[in-house]
Amino acid sequence: MSPPSPGDIRRWDLEHVWHPFTQMAEYAAADPLVVVAAAGNYLIDDRGRRLFDGTSALWCNLLGHQVPEIDAAVRDQLGRVAHSTLLGATHPPVAELARRLVEVAPPGLDHVFFSDNGATAVEAALKIAFQYRLLTQGREAAEKAAYLSLGNAYHGDTLGAAAVGGVELFHEIFRPILLPALKTPSPYCYRCPLGRTPPDCPIDRGEELEQALERAEGRVCAVIIEPAVQAAAGMVLLPSGFLAKAAEACRKHGALLILDEVATGFGRTGSLFACQKEGVTPDLLCVAKGLTGGYLPVAATLATDAIYRTFLGRYEEYRHFFHGHTYTGNPLGCAAALATLRLLADGSIVAAVERKARVLRDALAPVALHKNVGEIRQRGLMCGVELVADRGTKSCFPPGDRVGYGICLALRERGIFLRPLGDVIVVMPPLSATEEELRHLAAALHAALEEKLGG
Ligand code: PMP
Repeated sequence: MSPPSPGDIRRWDLEHVWHPFTQMAEYAAADPLVVVAAAGNYLIDDRGRRLFDGTSALWCNLLGHQVPEIDAAVRDQLGRVAHSTLLGATHPPVAELARRLVEVAPPGLDHVFFSDNGATAVEAALKIAFQYRLLTQGREAAEKAAYLSLGNAYHGDTLGAAAVGGVELFHEIFRPILLPALKTPSPYCYRCPLGRTPPDCPIDRGEELEQALERAEGRVCAVIIEPAVQAAAGMVLLPSGFLAKAAEACRKHGALLILDEVATGFGRTGSLFACQKEGVTPDLLCVAKGLTGGYLPVAATLATDAIYRTFLGRYEEYRHFFHGHTYTGNPLGCAAALATLRLLADGSIVAAVERKARVLRDALAPVALHKNVGEIRQRGLMCGVELVADRGTKSCFPPGDRVGYGICLALRERGIFLRPLGDVIVVMPPLSATEEELRHLAAALHAALEEKLGG
């Protein structure tokens, strides 16, 4: 059988691959990007074009592609075992990875439940929180248990994770088949649902969240939050101090705090985990994406000793956590994760994030002045440029105009790959991006805005 030609690949893709979060009719009409290789911070397509990977392979690539140390670690592991189950057995990379994660996570998170994606890490956390309520308070309390999450939240697409999501476009369609979950507004100051400004906003001060817990009268078994940045909402920033207030409110009302660091983890916001900057340790911490440097799907839900111990007992008490996936703790992925953590260990890559973030912020200053840029929101190397039809009224472009998408296509012509969230242009380069690359990206974005929307 001869290998498929580039034409075959394009045709088979259009005929058979159903792409996620993609209107396939539009995709088929466009000219899809076919990535055949990647090196450093660049993707290489089937026409030999080099594109700067400004999405970090959808927010998971930390250190670029073909990182020699990660490649070598995966190859070495391939020579041992590619996969073996964690159900009733273990292997060296998973045990070492659990140890290293506990060492670098906020103190007190001593136990690691592995899975394979952001959504699965969140599902595990939600189910642990429920079973913890059952084990500690009994069946009657568990039957009344509820989760509390923020508006605009995104925790993944499986049904449990979607139930605690709050992005209208993604989640409302499925609401009839989702668990009911309590919601409290997100601190999206640019479009504040209460029409307030930050210093005197009860959302920002955590008062709305606390009141939601009060109204639930102890029913909330867990509050789930993306610390620092609600990424998929379009990089909505949580005010500093919000997390500490949420943690305090959780303690007061007997709810566990789940922090979803799937997007923010591993240095993105300038500290290894965003919650460390806020001095908050959750009861459950979800990590995925950057854990393997963006190489392989490994995720983890870290839990406190108090939670873990609650699940211990005699076999016939059935207190154990009835949950797991076939590829949980995959050895190749764990090897990639260990290599990634070794590269991050001396702190220099994470320390450089603040400096690079400043370079990006300064370089985006002319973009902020563009007549159709409503707001630029940035924390570390997570950035969203919100486009509006009118800055005065903050009105949106009609969705059918595909403004954000069109700008990303124009950026492709300038050697940059970005993917928007509606009309928010997401800039999420790898931590390995150089200052020069960040300046080039910002200049290209400015030029693309002028080309598509005028000066
Ligand atoms: N939580 C957050 C905060 C995320 O940003 C994402 C993905 N963008 C997820 C969970 C889901 O991760 P995955 O796509 O790996 O399931």
